Amino acid sequence: MKTPEKIILIGGGLSGLTLAYLLAEKNVETLVLEASPRLGGRIQTVKGNLGTPMELGATWFAEKHCHLSTLIEELQLQKFPQFSKGLSLFQTKSFEPPQKFFVPEAEAPSYRLAGGTKTLTDALAQKLESKNIRLNARVIRIREADDTVTVETESGEVFKAAKVVLCLPPQLAASRIEFSPALPKHVQEILPTVQTWMAGAVKFTLEYAEPFWRMAGYSGMLYSHAGVIAEMYDHTNFEEDKYGFTGFLSSGAASYTQEVRKEFVLRQLDELLGEKALKPTAYFDKVWTDEFVLAGSPVIQRPHQNNGHPLLQKSYINEKLLFCGTETASEFAGYMEGAIQAARGVVERLCNH
Ligand SMILES: Cc1cc2nc3c(=O)[nH]c(=O)nc-3n(C[C@H](O)[C@H](O)[C@H](O)COP(=O)(O)OP(=O)(O)OC[C@H]3O[C@@H](n4cnc5c(N)ncnc54)[C@H](O)[C@@H]3O)c2cc1C
Repeated sequence: MKTPEKIILIGGGLSGLTLAYLLAEKNVETLVLEASPRLGGRIQTVKGNLGTPMELGATWFAEKHCHLSTLIEELQLQKFPQFSKGLSLFQTKSFEPPQKFFVPEAEAPSYRLAGGTKTLTDALAQKLESKNIRLNARVIRIREADDTVTVETESGEVFKAAKVVLCLPPQLAASRIEFSPALPKHVQEILPTVQTWMAGAVKFTLEYAEPFWRMAGYSGMLYSHAGVIAEMYDHTNFEEDKYGFTGFLSSGAASYTQEVRKEFVLRQLDELLGEKALKPTAYFDKVWTDEFVLAGSPVIQRPHQNNGHPLLQKSYINEKLLFCGTETASEFAGYMEGAIQAARGVVERLCNH
């Protein structure tokens, strides 16, 4: 088996960190360059004032996500099923009372990670040497230089490696990174059309001192066509001693200030679950359009458009540049499973060819 020399991974999200972890197991040296001040990318767990792990990004996964399940086991992390017992609510119209329904226990439930999804990216990062991860290192240029590639960051630092792997959404690679020599025209044309999963989503999360909805027989699950909350789920922690909700706001919510979004969220919950909803111990939300996920590119409405495109499975710049990232996966593209599958695919191509 041929072992490649040092490889630079651009992006410290789940795909980049998984790739670094898998390559470290094969004694391949990597350097992860991450633009933002934190690792994790679209995985972002924050803590409420009472210490509840609260998800602003990726939250749920399923048994059928085999690569993710294997990695979770390997890293000795704990999964637990999403709570769904009790009455769920469906608001069809703002002027009608909500419909109440019971969700039957799922044969294949959604799972969450104890401690929050961030425990996954934290566990991967802990397996890497800290000198091989650079935060605040936004890559702006990739250049072929004889039989190496140079990678330049916004701050002017230049790194050299045998190969480079782009572990970020293709839309970002197209709009934010200059390639020399230029990528083939058909690749340049495809990259901006590859939908970045969840770009434009508005996720919110609330923390409460007690699970007043559970006590009143509600599951915490809400679907609404009427209010600012479009989808909501119980967000109680694994130990069942910290409580809250998480979910998605309607897309129009992105145009309000966070203050207004919070006010609308609490008003909707007050109407549906009573006035205890008005006293959360923490509220967070995030509009996923920032410079680390979309950076001014348009939100592509068609889900998974051109995800896993065959051109994303090829190498460029004389075999020195590869694509990784969940949007390149041939299965479960967009999801955490896709990010891991993509990383495994790249390892296969780098080490077995
Ligand atoms: C709101 C939301 C909810 C989600 N819910 C779920 C869910 O429940 N289940 C599920 O399976 N998946 C979910 N996902 C999707 C999941 O988060 C992604 O599939 C996964 O995290 C993607 O990992 P990635 O490494 O491919 O990309 P990313 O996480 O996007 O990582 C890319 C990294 O590259 C960095 N970067 C960008 N530009 C540069 C540059 N120029 N130089 C250097 N670094 C750069 C970014 O800062 C980022 O850290 C959700 C996503 C969001 C946003």
